[in-house]
Amino acid sequence: MTPEELAGEIKGCGLYRNKSKYIIEASRKLLELHDGQVPGTREELQALPGVGRKTAGVVFGIAYGGSALPVDTHVYRVARRLDLSRARLPEKVEEDLVKCLAPHQRMEAHHLFIAHGRTTCRARKPACGDCCLRELCPYPEQEGEKS
Ligand code: SF4
Repeated sequence: MTPEELAGEIKGCGLYRNKSKYIIEASRKLLELHDGQVPGTREELQALPGVGRKTAGVVFGIAYGGSALPVDTHVYRVARRLDLSRARLPEKVEEDLVKCLAPHQRMEAHHLFIAHGRTTCRARKPACGDCCLRELCPYPEQEGEKS
């Protein structure tokens, strides 16, 4: 299958042209270097085409039960609003969060940050009035949103 053919199959996904290219390249590398198996270390995962720190962490944590706290856009935003990190780079935010959590809590925390970011602490209009973390969170006061 060519990247163009695969792109047609995954058109519903964002950035589908780039993704189709990387899926084909990563599949080739898996066959060449790993007998067609997905490797189980973050380093090996990150060495695959199109796989960055976040994706490697997700696969490591979910598929292999490893301890990881991948920082996507939701984790990044919620952690910074809650003042759990003031770092600008996602890898530094990850470092700050990891310090607060035991290894077995990190993947669950990743999912909880994402769920909270999607449902309540949304990027454009966070629902601070309905948020269970409101009393702990400096953001509404900083933004003058506390009612
Ligand atoms: S109070 Fe507002 S900014 Fe803070 S975590 Fe909740 S929704 Fe997000």
